[in-house]
Amino acid sequence: MGPDGSYKGGSLLCQPVDSRLLPLFAPLTSLRGIGPALAGKIARVAGGSRVLDLLFHMPDGYLDRAALPQMADAQAGMVATLVVEVVGVEEGGARRPWRVMVRDGSGVGELAFFGRRPPAVCQVGAEIAVSGRIETFNGRVQLRNPDRVVPREKAGEIAGIEPVWPLTAGLFPGQIRIAMAQVLPKVPALPEWHDGPLLLREGWPGFAEALHAVQAPGAAPGELPRARLAYDELLAHQVAMQWARGRERRRPGRALGGDGAMRAAALARFGHALTPSQAEALSEIDADLATPRRMLRLLQGDVGSGKTLVALLAMLRAAECGRQAALMAPTEVLAKQHFRTISALSPTAVVLLTGSVKGAERREALAGLAEGRVKLVVGTHALFQEAVVYEDLALAVIDEQHRFGVEQRLQLGAKGERTDVLVMTATPIPRTLLLTQWGDMEVSRLVGKPVGRRPIRTTLHSLATLPDVLDGIERALGRGEQIYWVCPLVSESELVDLAAAEARYAVLAERFGGRVGLAHGQQAPEVRDAALAAFAEGRVPLLVATTVVEVGVDVRQATVMVIEHAERFGLAQLHQLRGRVGRGEAQSYCLLLHEEGLTRAMRQRLSLLRDTEDGFRIADVDFELRGGGDALGRRQSGMPGYRLADPELHGRLIEIAHRDAAVLLERDPRLEGERGQAVRLLMRLFERNAAVRTLEAG
Ligand code: ADP
Ligand code: MG
Repeated sequence: MGPDGSYKGGSLLCQPVDSRLLPLFAPLTSLRGIGPALAGKIARVAGGSRVLDLLFHMPDGYLDRAALPQMADAQAGMVATLVVEVVGVEEGGARRPWRVMVRDGSGVGELAFFGRRPPAVCQVGAEIAVSGRIETFNGRVQLRNPDRVVPREKAGEIAGIEPVWPLTAGLFPGQIRIAMAQVLPKVPALPEWHDGPLLLREGWPGFAEALHAVQAPGAAPGELPRARLAYDELLAHQVAMQWARGRERRRPGRALGGDGAMRAAALARFGHALTPSQAEALSEIDADLATPRRMLRLLQGDVGSGKTLVALLAMLRAAECGRQAALMAPTEVLAKQHFRTISALSPTAVVLLTGSVKGAERREALAGLAEGRVKLVVGTHALFQEAVVYEDLALAVIDEQHRFGVEQRLQLGAKGERTDVLVMTATPIPRTLLLTQWGDMEVSRLVGKPVGRRPIRTTLHSLATLPDVLDGIERALGRGEQIYWVCPLVSESELVDLAAAEARYAVLAERFGGRVGLAHGQQAPEVRDAALAAFAEGRVPLLVATTVVEVGVDVRQATVMVIEHAERFGLAQLHQLRGRVGRGEAQSYCLLLHEEGLTRAMRQRLSLLRDTEDGFRIADVDFELRGGGDALGRRQSGMPGYRLADPELHGRLIEIAHRDAAVLLERDPRLEGERGQAVRLLMRLFERNAAVRTLEAG
């Protein structure tokens, strides 16, 4: 605060949220009747325990209790509200439900209460309204544990539309409904951030109105309110992203050209020629580097297509001009592996910088980068932390883009004002998703694999045939081959995954003794790295692992990949895992072990994997097969955190938001106009804070 109490800006850490939004960022526990236990349960499904989190907890669908049929007309399976008279109550017992006999002008039926007593209104002679799913039992209408039972006068309250929210154990629809009724009035009146003509054309309601319509509807809300909210989120993201992108662009890059000497030396050490596709990608990259405009290019290539070599050659171009280049990997294991590959080929010194590089080694690396003695660095996110100073960072290569969001991009921007950026990914991303995450970005694709590599033989096996599989493993070990054994993704919980891996390890160790190693995410990094190293060096030929081996670990002599409970993995992930073998010249195998009694859809997915190694095809088909609503798959395909927008449902809106944001930023680059100010508020609302902060910092 300044002396006059005004906010001075500048600090990145303590920017106040716009005060109009404060009620939305308040904790749910600040509301009457919501204690920490309930707030905790809501947080589990809504992703947070603030007012806003609950408001953004979107229903999966709606129940229509509006139908008020006569009992004789009630159809089994429908959800309806009946107005009936109680004619008898039969007490329940340990094994019998309580039964309440009812009738209306058209017939008789019963309400059955399992594990609970009927509500007090169920007295003989009382007129009640009950709502729930209609079933039939002994030819009569039956409602089992009806959702709502109220006196007849209150029928109007329950005979309507009711949102169906995703729930968790111990959280009931009624609790969300009541909490929602409390938070909805907290939604402040905010200025409209959308373009008038767009709203008119789409027929969208205002923000607050849309939330009411979705969360506490008086009538079936239709698609419009939900689409409006999705668009809010998409626009917030597009503006934040394009603003960051525009900022990168406004700062001119510089022309990088080199004499090719370092590259030639590296290729000579490598001993193979570039594949045509690598050569093409590299010339596209070179063309970008040669112009003063800043590069933002995506290098897409299937696992094993040879991206690392292309990255190294691009980095050497920077070094040839006396400048620096950094390669950032998503994990420590991968960073080390890239470091090994790159330092083996590079004619100029390379340093490693990760969280575990400490003490003198770290000081030395930092000094080398600051003074410009070191031209190439490989590491993790540590590369872009504040303490790291570059003399002249010309190129940043980012491996596996999906873990690298707008925030990190802005951090990176702060390292080198004119840094060119190359992003590498093995995930083939459909165009709309690409737009969503990056805005405009040039794309190079590596197709095919370096020559001399044989296709991987993929087979499906029921877990019931495990003994046969183990015999096969025994034979492979006898031939001196190396085997990955990846254990199931049991749940979101690492601990549970771990138990599965440890159990399998115990079983395999009993049979194969010291030839089995174990690597998982809960081990201390030294222990895990030691296990991976023992495998990489061939000392321990069978490695049981959780998905820590998913990304990039390169062990050329590994030829067998066993994936247990393959049906629980996403296709893209299975494909990534399979890519861990088949990296050398020998014939490789991938064994997908699955549960007995697969559903047809599961079998279809696994068969696709068996039948093709084309990652782009797999991604496309997977995208289709999944349809909407597979959160796991979506997370794998690398979507940034969306709460309201579903890229599969709102694809059309992504394109519109993309153009809308571009036009807005062109007219009002600093978002100072009336709409610009409102859009800042929108970005705050969707917590695109890094962008707003840098906007405000100027
Ligand atoms: P990616 O990073 O795309 O998964 P890598 O860069 O790890 O793929 O390359 C996979 C394997 O192919 C590595 O063992 C690498 O040494 C080898 N490789 C890459 N390019 C070529 C090439 N042009 N000729 C022969 N082998 C290559
Ligand atoms: Mg790689």
